[in-house]
Amino acid sequence: MDNFDPKNPIRTSMLPYGSQWLDDEDREAVMKVLRGDFITQGPAIAAFEQAIAEHVGARYAVAFSNGTAALHGACFAAGIGPGDEVITSPITFLASSNCVLYQGGKPVFADIDPHTYNIDPDRVEERITSRTRAIIPVDFTGQPAEMDRIMALAEKHNLVVIEDAAHSLGASYKGRKVGSIAHMTMFSFHPVKHITTGEGGMIVTDDEEYYRKLLLFRNHGMTRNPEELERNDGPWYYEMHALGFNYRMTDLQAALGSSQLRKLDRFVQQRRDIARTYNEAFEGIPGLVMPKQHPDADSSWHLYVLRWETENFRATRREIFEGLRAQNIGVNVHYIPVYRQPYYKGLGYSAEGCPNAEQYYETAISLPIFPRMTADDVRDVIQAVTQTTKQLRERG
Ligand SMILES: *Cc1c(COP(=O)(O)O)cnc(C)c1O
Repeated sequence: MDNFDPKNPIRTSMLPYGSQWLDDEDREAVMKVLRGDFITQGPAIAAFEQAIAEHVGARYAVAFSNGTAALHGACFAAGIGPGDEVITSPITFLASSNCVLYQGGKPVFADIDPHTYNIDPDRVEERITSRTRAIIPVDFTGQPAEMDRIMALAEKHNLVVIEDAAHSLGASYKGRKVGSIAHMTMFSFHPVKHITTGEGGMIVTDDEEYYRKLLLFRNHGMTRNPEELERNDGPWYYEMHALGFNYRMTDLQAALGSSQLRKLDRFVQQRRDIARTYNEAFEGIPGLVMPKQHPDADSSWHLYVLRWETENFRATRREIFEGLRAQNIGVNVHYIPVYRQPYYKGLGYSAEGCPNAEQYYETAISLPIFPRMTADDVRDVIQAVTQTTKQLRERG
């Protein structure tokens, strides 16, 4: 293969690492709501909630304005408050631990497994104290965390498990759909995720009490349910029972979500096909670490992360990253360990106890993966990775 010529990159325009896929059916679903009577809090919300609950095998679903708000709601429903500790992964998006801070609780980071990059149940167990109230496992890249072991720890120590499944809609664990395993499970519908509502999130649960609290929390802590009222002054009457927020989703978004959900199985299959093509192409290239899959997990492949054993290349991760970007391959890094953030450092957090997360962060690069990628797009990524790898290895 020829060496890289900066005036002649493999692609002429940047290929993003992720992107939504909307079609005419999606646009028509939104238009139908725009022509109707409700643009928020109408029938489309309940329909979308029911469709998601059925799809993942949960009894209840509560839509939120975004996944972060949904996580906040789950922490409220779980009763997280000042002094409570909640264990989560450091290799995640900020929202997985920020939701604990919103409630006045204390996030505790447990190190990741060096192969799957998911939270390591042994490290979780070491971090459990008398103040621990919940665990927030993150299904990183779409690969479910080791849920049986996490649920067993939760049972033993009387903890609530809130699964951050922002990456794993459509994935399963031991043949069970993500959304049917944890006490509460959060999905995000941000445009890079499996299906989108622009912004949006959802909590699914089988527990009626969590369900009621989630409904309360997303609507200012207000209820009109006659069974819940302390008194009843008349048909106009409502009561505020908790300090909630306006975290509601609109009907426009929910209609889009229902339309997108009908395509989820195809989207996930397309992601799995791209991951398999990458695996076959990169297998056996020395110095490249492939994304390992736990035998219990069937990933829905939100991300495809390659790690570069940089000593093999006499190049830094940054040089590799910049080399791929120069070819217009929109690589990214997921994620900067949360404890490294200045805000968290200010709270006293450090890398202590998380050597695997540190090592992961130094060498990880996410490649583009999304259903709308064409065979040519996939080939461009493979060519760029192969060429960059070869060049950086040969460099004196
Ligand atoms: C996207 C994401 C969230 C938050 O979802 P939003 O809908 O963007 O608020 C939370 N956790 C993880 C791991 C995510 O990737």
